[in-house]
Amino acid sequence: MVSYIALGSNLDNPVQQVQQALLSIDQLSKTYLLAHSSLYQSAPMGPQDQPPYINAVAKIHTQLEPLELLDKLQAIENQQGRVRKQHWGARTIDLDIVLYDHTIMQTERLTLPHYGAKERDFVLLPLAEISPELVFPEGDSVSQALQSCVRYDLRKVSQ
Ligand code: ATP
Ligand code: MG
Ligand code: MG
Repeated sequence: MVSYIALGSNLDNPVQQVQQALLSIDQLSKTYLLAHSSLYQSAPMGPQDQPPYINAVAKIHTQLEPLELLDKLQAIENQQGRVRKQHWGARTIDLDIVLYDHTIMQTERLTLPHYGAKERDFVLLPLAEISPELVFPEGDSVSQALQSCVRYDLRKVSQ
């Protein structure tokens, strides 16, 4: 299956955190990286007393089931020292499953597509960069979503 992962970091050298997570994702069993976006900088959501974020989106091919993929991504978050203190607070790495094929699901642990993806320019713009023709399972396109999403002062920082 093809899946898209949104990466975000604003602690302990965020650019390196995102690059390390991309490597770790590529090294997961039954999974390889097909493409990743440029790196972007964005203003924080929620609490404003935290550093800016570095964001990217990865496109992967995986034979892991959705919950197995979530487990493995959370293991990478833990390896990279993610500590959950405050909702939308600062973090070394956040790995969210934006899409998993055309799967729509809503369980306690996993909502697909990710509930926030369509409202956030730091997810949609990197997503559109690697898959401009992408259409969400509900039928709306990434370019449509981009027109009405919330802006977080997004700027490209590297290829
Ligand atoms: P947000 O989800 O608004 O971006 P966050 O990423 O900071 O906030 P986390 O603390 O990383 O939130 O995750 C909270 C929980 O969200 C996780 O424990 C996980 O079970 C759940 N979750 C539900 N759907 C997804 C998804 N599509 N990708 C990743 N986690 C998800
Ligand atoms: Mg998140
Ligand atoms: Mg998360």
